[in-house]
Amino acid sequence: MKFICLLILSGIPLLPLAQPISKTKHVFIITTDGFRWQEMFTGADSLLINNIKYTSDTALTNAMYWDASVELRRKKLMPFFWNVIAKKGQLYGNRLFNNKVNMKNAYKISYPGYNEILTGYADLRVSSNAPVNNRNINILEYLNRQPAYSGKVVAFSSWNIFPYIINEGRSGIPVNSGYEMLEEDSAGNNTLINQVQLGIADKKHTRYDMLTYLGAREYIRAQHPKILFLGLGETDESAHDSRYDLYLQQASMADKMIADLWYHIQTDPFYKDNTTFIITTDHGRGNNTKSWSTHNLFTKGSGETWLAMIGPDIIPSGEIKADQQTYANQLVSTIALLLGERFETSHPVGKPVFLLNPGKEKYTIGKGR
Ligand SMILES: [Zn+2]
Repeated sequence: MKFICLLILSGIPLLPLAQPISKTKHVFIITTDGFRWQEMFTGADSLLINNIKYTSDTALTNAMYWDASVELRRKKLMPFFWNVIAKKGQLYGNRLFNNKVNMKNAYKISYPGYNEILTGYADLRVSSNAPVNNRNINILEYLNRQPAYSGKVVAFSSWNIFPYIINEGRSGIPVNSGYEMLEEDSAGNNTLINQVQLGIADKKHTRYDMLTYLGAREYIRAQHPKILFLGLGETDESAHDSRYDLYLQQASMADKMIADLWYHIQTDPFYKDNTTFIITTDHGRGNNTKSWSTHNLFTKGSGETWLAMIGPDIIPSGEIKADQQTYANQLVSTIALLLGERFETSHPVGKPVFLLNPGKEKYTIGKGR
């Protein structure tokens, strides 16, 4: 019934509900901060990897990430996305085909971006990255209040502002963020990661992504959360440092971590074939060889993003080449629909993301629906 209401509300034609509504029981939302659609869809930029201002070792970076063919080049940088998601899932945001993903919020910086992703609301009042508790209800806390997900929702992030974005105090969602210690058990799990964290003298606002990831993976193994948010942050850090070579390295690392996580999920009976990954970024960056390192309200390209989805209900359409506009504020209703839930809040929320099947005049994410 919940599902039917959502369909009506979102203007989607009502379809027969003979078969099970969806196979998705678990959702992992994964972000890599400020990673551009340009690199996702076209790989390394020739001007930036050959500019010694941005790339320390141009020959090595070329050897690692350059190929004259766009298809091979992007696969070199993001092999999991182009070998697996492009075959088994969906990739939105290649503007060369007029397939656009944008942030709806005006500010094009991180806190407003994550607020939009997690609450479905591009709130004008959320305008800075200051550590202020978010007034908006997010999808994680909404699901955590439903009996089916209670105590089974968790967030891990590299950036230390997430406890405010998710409003850990109000929402009751455990958020392990920045260089916060991880819970150790009697078997010594996480002990080593904590020792590494303690040993880092120059702690910045963003923890090394690998530490965040390993903490999340251990939690997944031991606790089996149903809903997980994983926020990686180093792509943005390297870009702000104007280090294009390191930005590519971090993107490549993010691809490997996501690949590793997908492998773990698909080989764990609890998660296998019932878990959907929603992967995106919180903002774009400048779209030329000078502005690429930054992003804000005034820098062209900062609102341009991308979206990848893989899971049992996602039609394996691969790279979406339809002329289409998607916004980050549509993700929460998409997640709710995948789970057969309804995200009820007092603020407006974008409609679910769907692939328009040309000629069929219906929006669908699942087979046989
Ligand atoms: Zn940034």
